[in-house]
Amino acid sequence: MSHMRVGLGYDSHRFEGKRPLKLGGVVIPFARGLSGHSDADVLLHAVADALLGAVGEPDLGEQFPPGDPRYRNADSRTFVRAAYAAVRRGGWLVGNVDATVIADAPKLMGYKAKMRQAISRLLDVRPGQVSVKAKTTEGFPPGTGGIAAQAVVLLKEAPGHRKR
Ligand code: MG
Repeated sequence: MSHMRVGLGYDSHRFEGKRPLKLGGVVIPFARGLSGHSDADVLLHAVADALLGAVGEPDLGEQFPPGDPRYRNADSRTFVRAAYAAVRRGGWLVGNVDATVIADAPKLMGYKAKMRQAISRLLDVRPGQVSVKAKTTEGFPPGTGGIAAQAVVLLKEAPGHRKR
């Protein structure tokens, strides 16, 4: 079955000081941000890796090495756009994305719709094709120490694209 692909992404970042907290491209008001070389948007990192995995491209860390000064404080939407460009080059469209953010704090209930919308815009799909769920950890890692995210993406063959 060559007309669909699936990709899986996972990431986690520790809380750190007073950086802005960004999840899914949305700034979430919170006392702490996440540590990382880029803006540390753990959800977008998981989405980007899911896209890259679905098309068999090298992972985010390989393409955008942490420590490369070009990506210092980088807007992680850049990474998702790059991964999505690889998807389109391969002749694929996004069918749907399903993601889980694992965090004991902050409460994300009020931001899930915004995150869905922000991610859908990056991937040329409707918000209904993107799911963002939020889970707490009952104290298991990352617990209160940070935030983790998982994402799966389903790709479908773009109409009229001839596979090489
Ligand atoms: Mg990351």
